[in-house]
Amino acid sequence: MEEVEEVVAIEIGPEDLLPRLKDNGYDTERVSKRRAWVERRTGADLTHAGKGSWDPELMRGNIENPIGVTQIPLGVAGPVLIHGQNAHGLFYVPMATTEGALIRSYERGMVALTKAGGVQTALISDENQTAPTFFFENVTLASVFPAWIEENLPAIREVVAGTTSHGKLTGATCYHVGRQVIVNFGFSTGDAQGMNMIVRATDAVCHWIQDHYPIGSYFLFSGMCSEKRASGFVHTRGKGKRVTAGALLPHDVMRLYLHTNAADLFKVWQSTVVGHLQAGSIGYNAHAANGLTAIFIATGQDVANVVNSASAITIFEPHPEGLYVSTTLTALSIATVGGGTNLPSQREALSMMDCHGRGKAPKLAEVIAATILGGEISMGAAIASREFVGAHERYGRNRPA
Ligand code: NAP
Repeated sequence: MEEVEEVVAIEIGPEDLLPRLKDNGYDTERVSKRRAWVERRTGADLTHAGKGSWDPELMRGNIENPIGVTQIPLGVAGPVLIHGQNAHGLFYVPMATTEGALIRSYERGMVALTKAGGVQTALISDENQTAPTFFFENVTLASVFPAWIEENLPAIREVVAGTTSHGKLTGATCYHVGRQVIVNFGFSTGDAQGMNMIVRATDAVCHWIQDHYPIGSYFLFSGMCSEKRASGFVHTRGKGKRVTAGALLPHDVMRLYLHTNAADLFKVWQSTVVGHLQAGSIGYNAHAANGLTAIFIATGQDVANVVNSASAITIFEPHPEGLYVSTTLTALSIATVGGGTNLPSQREALSMMDCHGRGKAPKLAEVIAATILGGEISMGAAIASREFVGAHERYGRNRPA
């Protein structure tokens, strides 16, 4: 039997804890002081982390214990021509990544879509959700709670309005299980991703319910809203923006720009149904998470939301003139105000698409959908033409010297 090493507990003292700095230490001097402390403790050289160009005070509200910045390579993909409900014209899309070949692949797909005459996009729905859970003494008391919620929606809306001017309650759906009722509250959140906004609102609503109805107790989170988690619920019902992008790829565009043809590209799509079924995948797409992550990092989105945002369905359909391709993102969590969107680098990236600030979130959602579609057709084409490995060998290898 293999010998198991004894686990020794390590005592830590005050000298091991991070220094507590005045006002939580966001000014340049205190950020440097904390970084120097970490350098001494770990032996790491953090020269590059200390070379940020903007005032670290701006990071307040975005990070704790700041020691500097991580520089991530920033590239651009495009152009992609969009004929959308909210996005119109040619777009160049910022992408921050360390995955070689990724941007080249998106660029190829976006140019092909542009040469094909452009992408149509539509924002289908827009609602973020929270789902607290309420407990009752018995199933009978639990069973009458949903009707009470329905009757009291106007009062609940007022409670929400007392916590946010941009968030609006759009509805509440109850899920009764035994002595427990989960209430899924839907909100429109304007141009914000909205989790801080709607969790605050839901917290106030829960307090109000407790004061007005004989519940036993409640928890603010049930897990059902699937924030930052993949689930069948967000895939079907959506979370954030449900947005779609579609285009007709003519035969000559596939041949010239994607080095493939309609029959081969369709066959790749059709045959990978089996692999997705075998894996029990939620959604059906080639690599939506790739483009989403790169755009999220560049534009100050909460990157962990890629987990729900990558719940996408890509469809390739034979057409007499070529192939009709579409991608629908069912649970896209993005913002153009709030979160990390106003940090200087992230703001610059959003500005490249004229997507920073108020009134711009629907446009950003459509630009993202069109971009993701570009990545889907490019990857499908690389598999169909058997150029996938060659492209990565050319652009994406970093073997240690
Ligand atoms: P936020 O930066 O906390 O707040 C944004 C605020 O901007 C809104 O609440 C709103 O204030 C105001 N605002 C001004 N103009 C607006 C407009 N045109 N549209 C919408 N709002 C506008 O951002 P958030 O979107 O609520 O929260 C996103 C952050 O929450 C992410 O960065 C994420 O990391 C974090 N997060 C929090 C939780 C949580 O449970 N709390 C969970 C996951 C993620 P009013 O509300 O006063 O109108």
